[in-house]
Amino acid sequence: MKVGVLAVQGAFAEMETYWRGKGAETFEIRQRADLERGMDVLALPGGESTVQGKLLKDLGLFAPLKERIGGGLPVFAVCAGLILLAEKIDDPGSRTDTRPERWFGVLPVTVRRNAYGRQLGSFTTRGTFDGQPDFPMTFIRAPAITEVAPQVEVLSTFDGAPTAVRWCNVTAFTWHPELN
Ligand code: GLN
Repeated sequence: MKVGVLAVQGAFAEMETYWRGKGAETFEIRQRADLERGMDVLALPGGESTVQGKLLKDLGLFAPLKERIGGGLPVFAVCAGLILLAEKIDDPGSRTDTRPERWFGVLPVTVRRNAYGRQLGSFTTRGTFDGQPDFPMTFIRAPAITEVAPQVEVLSTFDGAPTAVRWCNVTAFTWHPELN
C-alpha cells in the first residue's frame, strides 16, 4: 500500500513512521508535483489546522486534494486533519478560518477546536475502538466532535462524545492513533 502523507506542517514524521511500521510505502506531499506519484491512502496528520489550511492553499495542494477526496480516495485523518475535513466548526468567537479554498468541509460532523483546553489539555486514556477494548488514545489539544450526521459511523467515544468516525472513504480521529 502506498500512503501519501501531507507534510506541510505538524506531526507528519510520526504518521510516516506509523504507516511504515504497518508495512506501507510512504511519501511526503509537500508540493503539487508530489501528487503525481499516486497513492492508495491520503494521510492527514495532526498539527495546527489553520496553518495547514493556509499552506494547502498557498502551495496549490488544496484543490487537487479536495478533488481526490471527493473522488473516493481513502483518507486517514488525525486531529488537525479531522478539523480540515469537518463540515462545521463550532467555535464561537474564534478566528478559525474556514474559507472554502482552505477548508475541505466534506465530513458531515461538527467539531469544536481545542475542546479540552490548551497545552495542558493533552492526555492519554484507554477506550474501545471499533469494538477493540483497552485501546490507547492520546489527545493533544484535541477537538471534540459535537455532532455527527446519521450516516457517520462512530468508532470510539470519550465522555459520551464521538472521538473517531468513519464515513464513506474517510476515517478520522480526534486522538492520535499513530503515537501508540
Ligand atoms: N489544536 C489543533 C487545531 O486546532 C489540533 C491539534 C492536533 O492536531 N493534535 O488545529
